[in-house]
Amino acid sequence: MFQHGKQVQEKKVNCGKCDVLILRATFDKTGGFCMPCFMELNNGLRPTELDALKEKGLFEYFNRWNIFVKNGVPKIKRNLSVIDKLNHYLPVINASISGYLRFGKGSFDGHKNSELLVELKVSSEGELLEFLSEVERFNNELMNVTKK
Ligand SMILES: [Zn+2]
Repeated sequence: MFQHGKQVQEKKVNCGKCDVLILRATFDKTGGFCMPCFMELNNGLRPTELDALKEKGLFEYFNRWNIFVKNGVPKIKRNLSVIDKLNHYLPVINASISGYLRFGKGSFDGHKNSELLVELKVSSEGELLEFLSEVERFNNELMNVTKK
């Protein structure tokens, strides 16, 4: 390449996934990847965020929640009032949990989530009720872990 001579001193290495040239420092921080690849492989987390989660013992929760979100809400029969509530409440609950796990400082306040979930459960049944109960369990666990 034309600029080869200039780059010799910088000691760049290849990303283990996409092959782009990256700084040695980045390589060390990410375990061998460029930042976009690292984040893609880690649900959008940067290395520092990942370390922080692990340090707080919340990494497992982060993974579980992501799987949960990926699987999505079970299909439900047309019950407009429930669907309307779900559309309003679930993003709030998700933002609260994802937001805490990703950027979290201080304590996690799951009480608001609990209230919303209780309200949703009242008008739900079957698979949806199971789904909501699972969200509730997760929310309770997260409240317990973050109480200390
Ligand atoms: Zn890459």
